[in-house]
Amino acid sequence: MTQRGLLIVLSGPSGVGKGTVRKAIFEEESIDFQYSISATTRQPRAGEVDGEDYFFVTREQFEEKINNGDMLEYAKYVSNYYGTPKSFIDETLASGRDVFLEIDVQGALQVKSKMPEGIYIFLTLPDLANLRDRLVGRGTDSADVIEKRVAAARDELKMMINYDYAVENDVVSNAVERIKSIITAERLRVTRV
Ligand code: 5GP
Repeated sequence: MTQRGLLIVLSGPSGVGKGTVRKAIFEEESIDFQYSISATTRQPRAGEVDGEDYFFVTREQFEEKINNGDMLEYAKYVSNYYGTPKSFIDETLASGRDVFLEIDVQGALQVKSKMPEGIYIFLTLPDLANLRDRLVGRGTDSADVIEKRVAAARDELKMMINYDYAVENDVVSNAVERIKSIITAERLRVTRV
């Protein structure tokens, strides 16, 4: 029998560097995760491929998936739906391949309620002052928005207790090494929840 793959969920407050760490992980040669492909009702942009960038579906198809319980989590942005299809994850895990999800805290908690067997990794920063510096450095938000994001991050930090691991993103390459160590250890586990 094929051994089931691991579901690895990388999450954390906005601005903590989830996307950067995820990209660095996928650049590692030793890593062969399937990235969880989201479904969306928005139109494909030039160059986007169905089943690679997203599963592009109609509103009716998306709402049917919600009603059938096939959305592990979903959200609406600018009048389009975005969500994580459960069937794609289930099929990939059943084939023995590990699945990697990078998602915000609200989404991760929804996924955990449905797939508690996953490995939930919370990416953190050494301190919140550091987050403010990063958001200022990114230069995409006004001072007012930055304060709101820092306040949201403070709230989201309280959610860390729901995760299996906390990984500090002080330096991206260090965060990647820590995540690789977690996965190595998880593969050696005798029992899983
Ligand atoms: P875009 O249209 O630029 O590809 O994505 C718009 C927003 O949807 C981004 O903030 C992106 O992170 C978010 N998004 C993409 N996939 C998912 C998903 O599966 N679930 C949720 N909750 N948000 C998603």
